[in-house]
Formats: sequence, C-alpha cells, structure tokens
Amino acid sequence: IDLHPPLKDLETAQAARLTSPTKGNAVVYWMRMEDMRIHDNRALSKASELAKKENIPLVALFVISPHDYIAHDRGPRRIDFMLRNLRCIQTDLANLHIPLHVTTHTPRHTLPEYILSLMKDVGATQIFANIEYEVDELRRDIKLCELAKNEKFSAIFVHDKLIIQPDTLFTKANKPYTVYSPWQRNWLAMLNSDLAKYIGEAPGPSANDKSIHSNSKLSSLFDCKIPEKIDGFECQDGEVMAKIWPAGEDAAREMLRLFLFTKAQSSHIGVSDPLANAPEEQKGSKASRVLQYKDNRDKVDSNTTSRLSPYLASGVISARECVRGTLKVLGADKVQGTRDTAVGHWVQEVAWRDFYTHVMASFPRVSMGRTFLEKFDAVIWETNEEHFEAWKQGRTGVPIVDAAMRQLNTMGWMHNRPRMVAAMFLVKDLMIDWRLGERYFMEQLIDGDLASNNGGWQWSSSTGTDPQPYFRIMNPFNQSEKADPDGDYIRSFVPELRSVKSKDIHRPSTALAMKLNYPAPIIDHHKARDRAMRRFKNPGEN
Ligand code: FAD
Repeated sequence: IDLHPPLKDLETAQAARLTSPTKGNAVVYWMRMEDMRIHDNRALSKASELAKKENIPLVALFVISPHDYIAHDRGPRRIDFMLRNLRCIQTDLANLHIPLHVTTHTPRHTLPEYILSLMKDVGATQIFANIEYEVDELRRDIKLCELAKNEKFSAIFVHDKLIIQPDTLFTKANKPYTVYSPWQRNWLAMLNSDLAKYIGEAPGPSANDKSIHSNSKLSSLFDCKIPEKIDGFECQDGEVMAKIWPAGEDAAREMLRLFLFTKAQSSHIGVSDPLANAPEEQKGSKASRVLQYKDNRDKVDSNTTSRLSPYLASGVISARECVRGTLKVLGADKVQGTRDTAVGHWVQEVAWRDFYTHVMASFPRVSMGRTFLEKFDAVIWETNEEHFEAWKQGRTGVPIVDAAMRQLNTMGWMHNRPRMVAAMFLVKDLMIDWRLGERYFMEQLIDGDLASNNGGWQWSSSTGTDPQPYFRIMNPFNQSEKADPDGDYIRSFVPELRSVKSKDIHRPSTALAMKLNYPAPIIDHHKARDRAMRRFKNPGEN
C-alpha cells in the first residue's frame, strides 16, 4: 500500500490554475528554506520577469515556520544557517530595491491562508515558489493553489531543486525506477539531450524601480528584521558553524571554485575554516580535488570532497551551477557522468541527490517513517539506551565510528564514508532502529535533507532501494584502515587516541584503551554481524 504521490495532485492543481489573473500591485516570490539564493533561481527569475512585464514591483517573502522544522527534525544548526543566509539575501535584494519580508507563522496547517493574506496585504495577485517535494509541503502548496483560485489569484510552483525533476524518468514498463544505475544512465542521457533545458542558468532578478521606496505599504517591508534566533532552535555553537560554513552565495561559489579549479590540499580535516585555508591557485602541477575525486573520494584523512552539501541542501547554490562547473573544468559540451572519469564520478554523486528525491516523490511512504522494502518493517530491533547514547556521543570503542560521530557533533557534517560506516554500525552492529539514527543525523546535520538522509539511512539499513542485505554489513575496522590508513582522521576527532602512532589506532587492545581512558568496544562485531544476518533473513524472528 502506498500513498498517492501528492506531486501528481500539485501538477493537476497547476494545470487547473487561473492563467491570467488581473494585474496586481506587486508580484510575490515566496522563498523557502531549500532555495536560498538569488542567482539561478527559477521561481525568482519567473516572478521577476512577470513583474518587469507588468511594470509592478517584485516582493520577496520568507515565512519562518517552526512547526515545519519540528516535523522534519531540523536541528538548530540548519536553522541558524537559514537565518545567516537570509541576512545575506536580504542585503543583496535590498541593493536591487527588492524587499525581503521575513515573518513567522504557526501553526503550519494554516500557512496557505496566511500566505494568501500576505498577498492581499501587498496587493499581489500572483505568487511564485520553487517546489518542495516533501509530502506535507506539497499538500500545503496544493491548498494554496486552490485558495488562490477562489480569489482569482494565481500560485505558480516551479521545479528548481534538481537537475531533472521527479516524474520524468521511467523504466521500460513505465514505472518509477527503484535501482540507481539504470536510473542514472537514463538521467545522464536525458541531461545531455538538452543541456540548456536542464542546466541552463535562470536569469537573475531585475532591480525594482526606486519609486518602490515611496510606496508606504511596500517600503515598510524593507524595515523587517531577521531574528537572531528562533525559540527552541538556539544554536549553541553558532560561531564555530559560521566559521566552518560561512553563509551566502559568494561563500558557496567560492567553495565550488576551490573544489573544481584549485590544486588539492594535502591535509584538511577537523574544525577549520575552509575558505581561510584556501589552497594556492592551481598552477598546473597538481590536479584539483574534482580531478582527483575518483581516486580520493573515499579517503577521510584529507579534504577530498567538495563539502558543498550544506549549500546544496539549503539551495545557496544550484545543482545546475555545480554541473555547469564541470563542463568548464573539462572544456566540454557534454556532461561526464560515468564512473570511469573523476569528474563523471562526482556528477554521479550529485545525481544521487536527484535520485533520492525522485524516490521520495514516487514513494512518499519513505519520508513518513516507513521502509521502502516493506517486508523489513517487521525486523526486530534492540532497545538499548546505553548503546544508543554511546553511539551518539562517539563512545562506542570503535575508533572510526567514534571519530565519525564526533565529527558530526562538532562540525554538523560528516564525510560520506564515515556516514555509511556509523549508520551501518548503529543498524547492523547495535541493531538499533534506523529511524532513530535518521532523526539524530537530521538534528545535528547542517546539510540535513529529508530525501538524502532517508535514502542514506535506508541504504545503510538495507531497507531501501537496490539492497544487498547479506553483503552490505561493513566491517568498521577494515573500513577504517582503508579510509584513514594513517589514523589522522581518528586522531583529529578522538583526542584520547592521539598518542597512538601505530595501526593499533584502528582497533586498540583492551589494555591500551583502558590506559588511554578510551572505551572498549561495546559490541563484538562478528557476533553482531551474525545476529543482523539472521534478523534480516527472517524479519519478525529473533
Ligand atoms: P561530494 O562528494 O562533493 O558530493 C557532491 C554533492 O552530491 C553533495 O554535496 C550532495 O549534495 C550530493 N551527494 C553526494 N553523495 C550523495 C548521496 N549518497 N546521497 C545524496 N546526495 C549525495 N547528504 C545530504 O546532502 N544531506 C543529508 O542529510 C545526508 N544524509 C546522509 C545520511 C547517511 C546515513 C548517508 C550514508 C549519506 C547521507 N548524505 C546526505 C549523503 C552524503 O553523505 C553527503 O551528501 C556528502 O557526504 C556531502 O559531502 P560533500 O558535499 O563533500 O559531497
């Protein structure tokens, strides 16, 4: 049994919308927390185009909706990042004489009525927004479409988040894909069939006429103050986060430039400011990180990946811009997207982001706490608070898992490999329900994205798409030796083990661990592996 995908209902509501409402006094662009940028933003671009055509001002709107953040387990870091980005956007828009009106609304189910009332306040009859693919968000937008229609207004929702929108790629049997590789081949072929359509840049917004400042209703929107914090989402390590993850489009673009075009750094891990430590410009002697991605991406002891996920998750940079960047690196007119090249390998990772959102849009149950493979709903989980707490704190006695969890707790981010190792350890070794891990990641991550996080957790717990339950039980000690051969990653995040110079760092003996005040492993990996195999083979049996 599955839910009817609400994306289809939004498409129906869009098809039935009023196409030419009467001209209003302004056009509204409703910015949401996944499209926090001015450049290459389709809804903003379309709203601006219309405002220009009708010769009326463009007004940007952002509604802080704490109930949505609670519903999606959004953590303080993600919310703080949102507020920091909003400040940058407000300044940039004000330079174009476009107000960004930021307001707060609860409860979440009356948001459509509230948006409608704000439209009426500014005299707008048309509103534009980029689509958010989560179930509740889609239902909210469907309701706004209907309310708008009753008022003879128009609400226009635009696909922007992904390179290829959901509901466009189907198997030969005309079904949504559930396996990544054939989906990705089709994705790449479609993308390369029309680059302008899929990764073409949306024009930036045109400036409003300065006369907007003499319109008393609209000019007051410029005075709006973005709150420093939101009750219940106070960020305890905001200063550290601002240093590691600076807000704003310039920072995001710089991050992309460093990854694509500057020569790789030898070592860059831990809590530090990636921009302050920017490497020298590439002089041709060494390749950039993207050009070394195929060989280095699984290494966690240096800065091997782009670290763009916080910016992509909040939409501070568009995925289109990232893929366009790869064309520039190669001087190519086709996107490379296969694993045999370094750049292609990176594009494949960007494609995973599309894939998991496609899965969520086609099978909405996955975002509602249910397994993709429903037979695994019956798997018996352990309830062990002590183990769960040890995992969260990074005190499991398995160094790579502890380093990973402490990286998450201090940076709000983790490299992909330790994410998989730590997730799989919780689910397969400790046999703790993946949903608890999914929620903890969401609460801590600055790049928390419902679809990618859910996809990552369901992949790690073999309950998702494309599973191989009997082979996919990672041995954390072997993973550690491969991903962090010299132990530098572990040393960065687990100070108790800093003095261990040998390979023992991957699996310290009980005596060594005791001497260093580091815990002994809380579980025997081999026994735990047998238990997981048994329980996944026969869901419902112990
Ligand atoms: P790069 O290697 O440089 O990749 C570029 C971009 O591609 C990333 O920024 C990201 O947007 C996308 N991407 C890469 N790998 C994946 C993937 N496996 N799935 C989806 N998108 C991907 N990613 C999130 O953005 N938000 C999450 O909440 C999230 N939760 C995860 C939970 C688990 C258990 C696992 C195993 C993975 C999760 N990921 C999540 C995916 C991945 O770990 C991160 O996107 C990646 O580590 C971010 O680092 P980067 O920007 O340097 O990635």
